[in-house]
This record gives sequence, C-alpha cells and structure tokens, in this order.
Amino acid sequence: MGSAVTVAYGDGIGPEIMEATLRILSEGGAKLEIEAVDVGERVYRAGNTAGVGEEVWESLRRTRVFLKAPITTPQGGGFKSLNVTVRKTLGLYANVRPCVAYAPFVRTRHPKMDVVIIRENEEDLYAGIEHRQTTQVMQCLKLITQPGCEKIVRYAFEYARRHGRRKVTCFTKDNIMKMTDGLFHRVFDTIAPEYPDIASDHMIVDIGAARLADTPEAFDVIVMPNLYGDILSDVAAQIAGSIGLAGTANIGTRCAMFEAIHGSAPDIAGRDLANPSGLLLSAVMMLVHIGQPEAATAVHNAWLATLEAGVHTGDVFTAEGSRERVGTRAFADAVISRLGQEPKRFGPIRYALTDADALSGLEALEGEMRRQTQTPAPKKDIVGVDIFLEWHGATPEELGARLSRVESGGLTLSMITNRGVKVWPRGHAETFCTDHWRTRFLAGSANGGMASHAQILALYSKLVDQGFDVIKTENLCDFDGQPGYSRGQGQ
Ligand code: NAD
Repeated sequence: MGSAVTVAYGDGIGPEIMEATLRILSEGGAKLEIEAVDVGERVYRAGNTAGVGEEVWESLRRTRVFLKAPITTPQGGGFKSLNVTVRKTLGLYANVRPCVAYAPFVRTRHPKMDVVIIRENEEDLYAGIEHRQTTQVMQCLKLITQPGCEKIVRYAFEYARRHGRRKVTCFTKDNIMKMTDGLFHRVFDTIAPEYPDIASDHMIVDIGAARLADTPEAFDVIVMPNLYGDILSDVAAQIAGSIGLAGTANIGTRCAMFEAIHGSAPDIAGRDLANPSGLLLSAVMMLVHIGQPEAATAVHNAWLATLEAGVHTGDVFTAEGSRERVGTRAFADAVISRLGQEPKRFGPIRYALTDADALSGLEALEGEMRRQTQTPAPKKDIVGVDIFLEWHGATPEELGARLSRVESGGLTLSMITNRGVKVWPRGHAETFCTDHWRTRFLAGSANGGMASHAQILALYSKLVDQGFDVIKTENLCDFDGQPGYSRGQGQ
C-alpha cells in the first residue's frame, strides 16, 4: 500500500510538469496513491473565490499531503490567493525553501551556495488586518505570537538536526521592533541552547540580507518572520540561479503542501518546453516527509546526474553549461534513464528515514510545545491608555493644551506622538505631522499607578463629547510589573 497524496495538476504548464514528475516518482520507486483534485482557474471561474472546492478539503483531511502544480490566478478583483487560503486553513506554519547553486551547469555568481530559508508562514503583517484610520493614514497590524515563534524556531532547529545542517541563523529587526521582532529573537535565544550540536546566531535583517546577497555560502539554515522570509526566500532562490528549479514545502502539524516556486507560465503552456525540476524537487521533499527516503534519494540523485550530463530544458540551457536541449517529456525520460546512478560532480544525496518530517513527529513536537507554553499567565495590570485621534488642528501645542483641559478622571496626559515621534511636550518645530495623533494617558500615583477599563471608557466618552475624533484606543498594561508597550520613539 502506498501513501495517499492529494495531487492538483494546476493550470498552464501545471499538467505537463505534474505528469513528468509523477512518472519519475513512480519509476523511482515511490509508492503513492494519488487522489487528483481540481484547484485554480476553472474553480475560480466557476464562482469559487478561493479557487478550492469542498472536495479538496475532504481529500486533504484524508491524505494530509498536497502536491500542487502552479495555478493561474484570474485577472481582476475578488479572487483570493489560493496559496494563502490553503496555508492559513491548514495551519501550514513553516515554509521551507532550499536554495542551492548548481554551478557550473546553472549560471550563478555564488557556486557554493546551499542555503535553506525557513519562513514563518502565518503571522506578522500577513494577518490581513488593515484599517484606514484617518484621511491620511492606513494601518496594518503586525502580530507576532509566542506559540507562533516557538513553533517555527523549533521547526528550524529540528530541520537542521534531521538534515545534517550545522548552523541556524535568525534574522529580525528587533533594534526597531523591540516587542514583536524582539519576541521572535528572544524565543530563538531561548530554544537555541537546547540544540548544542547546532551553531546559532542572530543578525539584524538588513545587514543579514546584505551578507546573504553577497556571501550566501556563509549561511546554512536561516529562520525569520513572514515578511522578511517572503522577500528573502525569493532573493535567495534568484541568486542561487535556481528560481526555476526550486521547490518549496509548506509544513503544518496536520498537513503539508509541496510545490514549485514558479507560476503557471501560460506563455509556454502545452508546448512541451517547461522544466519540471521545481515541482520534482518539491516532490522529493514530499517523499522525505512521508517517509520514503529511498525513492527520494534515487530521484534526487538521478536528477543531479541528468543536470551534470548537460541534458537541460530551454530555461537553463547555455552554450557553455549544456550539451542537449530537451523538452519536458524528454527531460523526464533522461532522469528516469539515470535512476540508480549517482552524480559525480555534485555530492550524492542520501536521505535516511530519520530525515523524515513524519507527521506523527510534528504532532509530538506540538504536544511538547503546548506543554511548555502552559506556564502560569503573568499578572496583568492596566496602567494607562493610548488614545488615537484624527485631528486637523494647527500645532501639537494646541492639541496638548486642549487635551490638558479635559477632565480625565485620574488619567494624566503624558505625551503626544505623531507617527511615533514625540511632539508634545517639548516637540521640535521641524517634525512633520499628519492627521494621526497618539495621545498617551497614564494613571497617576494616587491609585498606585493602576487604571481601570471604566476610567478609560469615561475618558473616551469625555473626549468624544468635547468634539475629538477618537479612532482607536490601546490599553497600556504591565505584565508581572514589566511594561507591555513601547515607551521610546521607535528609532
Ligand atoms: P511564472 O513563474 O509563471 O513565469 C515567469 C517566466 O518564467 C515566464 O517566462 C515563464 O515561461 C518562465 N517559467 C516559469 N516556470 C517555468 C518552467 N517550469 N520552465 C520553464 N520556464 C518557466 O510567473 P508569471 O508569468 O508572473 O505568472 C503566471 C501565472 O502564474 C499567474 O497567473 C500567477 O498568478 C501564477 N502564479 C502561480 C503560483 C503558484 O501557483 N504557486 C506562483 C507564482 C505565480
């Protein structure tokens, strides 16, 4: 009996590269029971705005493994990203993208590059919580959670250990976002010592990205929050020269999705020109994941041997690095004919069963994390409130003076900022101000520094009664006596 896998043939070049991939897997000894499902353009056009029908979810609940060819997102509004829908619905929290150079056969300036980018896939600025708050200002909420950080960081170290990697680097911007990115960094620093066999370090994402682009061979595994990972995984695949060859895995505790990183290439669809390598390498990751390391090893080595032999599809063909230009089907035949061979220039691949990201293993990991996160909740005290206003007056001094006159029921105006820059008291006349003002009220010492929801509601009403346009509030809380809010100016 084989492993059940949900397969979507996708749009454009999808069917051709999926057919080639499945043929190679089957010849390579993979034991798969395929449940074919329809996602993408036809499903969108039939009126399903997510591009995924109910039968797909049913199939995925059964198989828990999804091999997906690229799809075409129809032009025009109203269509939701299928990938985002699948990732979020199935809780696929880890995006894993190996970015490998295949010099001299595929052009790259970084012939020794072999980096795995592990991107947090569910949180950060991707929650889609955005608001227009004032005439001039839009807001997007950046959410970083402790369990989210623990899951992805632990996954990165487990991945490194299972795949014989030596170092995990963390990228954040916690010199600026001290609380959100600070949490990601802190969780990384807490978990890293549990893996003494694996080196670890942290870099601010800007310098890290510059080094990655300049000297990618200095990196091994890199873990980072969603937005940086989205951008840098494309940069890494591009500089490896492998954007058309790279596969990606989206891993959750109950389900996983494997796909190429390129799109449906409608310009070459149906012409037997497409390179199936990205999908094939993602399928190799899938075989490792479902515990079929022998087939994964055979297919990966045969693919490397084919690349070395200079048998290339048009997208990677060069006069210097290639010998024979082939189409999709002939490329698949060339890989199949090399099954059982090992590459000579590239190091041969040897996956072992211990490499398997077996789903049961991940569930155990989640159980362990749940246990660890069940620490007692910290003591939470409200100490004040940030009240955000839309205000079109002349100067911060005028706003400060007007707010100071409001009977604020024990809460004292302590500062006003505009786009995070303090403008009252003692602002600088040069600071450019928009119509979006944060006004901070703190509890006085009379009540031991504590504020209440009732006080905040009363202040809210007072401000509205006096004609202020309150756009939102954020409670200011201490957790076990430590401030749970930023106090500086965020530079
Ligand atoms: P694309 O990746 O499809 O194509 C970019 C260029 O690369 C094209 O010239 C194409 O011919 C070439 N190319 C891509 N894959 C190739 C392959 N395997 N072999 C040879 N050449 C290849 O990007 P695009 O043109 O911007 O997007 C086309 C469609 O794909 C759009 O509808 C887009 O929304 C969709 N898309 C889907 C996914 C996905 O399903 N994961 C990802 C990206 C884009």
